[in-house]
Amino acid sequence: MSTMIKIAGLSKSFGSLEVLRSVDLEVRRGEVVCVIGPSGSGKSTLLRCVNLLEEPSAGRVEVDGVELTDPDADLDSARRHIGMVFQQFNLFSHLTVGQNLTVAQRKVLKRRGPEALEVARSNLERVGLADKIDAMPSQLSGGQQQRVAIARALAMNPHVMLFDEPTSALDPELVGDVLGVMRGLADEGMTMLVVTHEMQFAREVADRVLFMDGGGIVEQGTPAEVIGDPKQERTRTFLARVL
Ligand code: ADP
Ligand code: MG
Repeated sequence: MSTMIKIAGLSKSFGSLEVLRSVDLEVRRGEVVCVIGPSGSGKSTLLRCVNLLEEPSAGRVEVDGVELTDPDADLDSARRHIGMVFQQFNLFSHLTVGQNLTVAQRKVLKRRGPEALEVARSNLERVGLADKIDAMPSQLSGGQQQRVAIARALAMNPHVMLFDEPTSALDPELVGDVLGVMRGLADEGMTMLVVTHEMQFAREVADRVLFMDGGGIVEQGTPAEVIGDPKQERTRTFLARVL
């Protein structure tokens, strides 16, 4: 299996605060990797470094064979293939669901209106919201808005999807539908890097779980290893609090 994400010696500091300390990570094509760990451990920063939303202080980031940390890299082009979904859905509130899905396709991928709309429709179908194409975001529940945000990312034909606590802002009863959509993507073979506190999801869907603390990967392995039988004291302490 080939490598989709390759991170080597990745460090990131904000002023004197060292947030990532020489992180090494490889994600294979089609692999689902869940990142767990306490607040402030650097999970979001790691994810944001994968598409260079944060500029690393040191180290290499390669996605789909392109080195993004190469000063000559075409970042816009590389980012097109990296979908990202945040805790806050960041939909354009003044646009319909359909328009939310077509705007970047038209601007960035130069797809024509009818084609972009067709892609929007099929991706809304994928997340179970084809009937909401003309709705405004404010008419949707938080869970539906997050599924729209996922569909919007998918409409760009990403090679990899990054999720940063996609269900953390949702009421508990809305979490399941979003996780269901993510599970479907995993089943389709999407490469996914997912920061989550949903241990049940990590157990069932992840190929690999990483536990981060203090800006580094403290422990990694299968869900059964890391969540079921953690080796490190810090992992045990964390799990005892969240499970
Ligand atoms: P996590 O996602 O695991 O909660 P983050 O990656 O968001 O952790 O943050 C790790 C640390 O980096 C925290 O101490 C946070 O306050 C700090 N941090 C994150 N982003 C910035 C920033 N843009 N400027 C300064 N400090 C930041
Ligand atoms: Mg975070």
